Amino acid sequence: MRSAYDLELADLAELLPGEPAFRSRQVFDGLHGGLKRVDEMTNLPAALRARLAEVLPAGPTVVSEQSADQGRTVKWALELDDGALVETVLMHYDRRSTVCVSTQAGCAMGCSFCATGQAGFTRHLTTGEIVEQVVVAARTAAPRRVSNIVFMGMGEPLANWKHLGPALHRLNGPMGLGARRLTVSTVGHVPGIRSLTAEPLAVNLAVSLHSADDRRRDELIPLNRRYPLGVLADVLAEYVETTHRRLSFEWALIDGVNDTDRDLDELAAYARPLAAHVNLIPLNPTPGFLVRGSSPRRVAEFARGLTDRGVTATVRITRGQEIDAACGQLAGRTKVELRAKGAQDADT
Ligand code: SF4
Repeated sequence: MRSAYDLELADLAELLPGEPAFRSRQVFDGLHGGLKRVDEMTNLPAALRARLAEVLPAGPTVVSEQSADQGRTVKWALELDDGALVETVLMHYDRRSTVCVSTQAGCAMGCSFCATGQAGFTRHLTTGEIVEQVVVAARTAAPRRVSNIVFMGMGEPLANWKHLGPALHRLNGPMGLGARRLTVSTVGHVPGIRSLTAEPLAVNLAVSLHSADDRRRDELIPLNRRYPLGVLADVLAEYVETTHRRLSFEWALIDGVNDTDRDLDELAAYARPLAAHVNLIPLNPTPGFLVRGSSPRRVAEFARGLTDRGVTATVRITRGQEIDAACGQLAGRTKVELRAKGAQDADT
């Protein structure tokens, strides 16, 4: 157990032998509904709080916090119990508050435009570690309520389906977030998309496409070599047909790489039969990836071009430009800083 949120109600009851059954329910509800730490659960006897503090993991430590957009975006680097670092972002909009959650420490997918991909894979997060990121953000957001969760932080969520699936249920059930407010993002993990197709919870699926040409997509997203666009389209068609849920494609616009008229034609031809909606993302600069995001004018033209070709598209508001908002950058940098500090400490 790495997080108190790894425990189901029955596990809590087992952990508290001799306590009446309603006590484990109080603890479970305090954690999930009340978003409380054990020491804040004043409905429990002090002796029980002390006992719980001994047996339950303390939770992640905030090692870095950055805020941008006049406090409407907050990004944390969280250190887990084994020292692994992940990042979580809270974004307030006028009518919603969204948390972007990590599902792995690091990532094995190696996407060329992504700081996390460049840093490599550490490990999968447990169900509790995924859920607890939402709790950290929700406590900060209060009195505003977190309304949406996107699994777009560090890691390929569907490569960690074993822990993501139960986390979706935990967020939907005890934490009261509607399934349609949960969005799972993938770079095209075909076995994971099949699992999501069979999942009764009607969560949203967003596929990070970025190119509809296999040669170019192979360079941007190495997983495309294993599951090329044709294979991906088949599994997505099955997903849409079985679930009747809307599919969306994420497309980070990179100057001269995937923003040409040819890209527009290829994307429209790929998205139309799947009735997919396209989210265009003006790109954040990533150290080590020597390309530029498309100009605002080209972004607007590209969006219009999709509409003209019968594909619905929106341009995402990019958040946290002045903090390290590209995927994985903050945790990557914090790791570097911690290593440097460790080296300094060892020297003194
Ligand atoms: S974009 Fe996502 S899947 Fe690709 S390396 Fe980054 S975290 Fe992993």
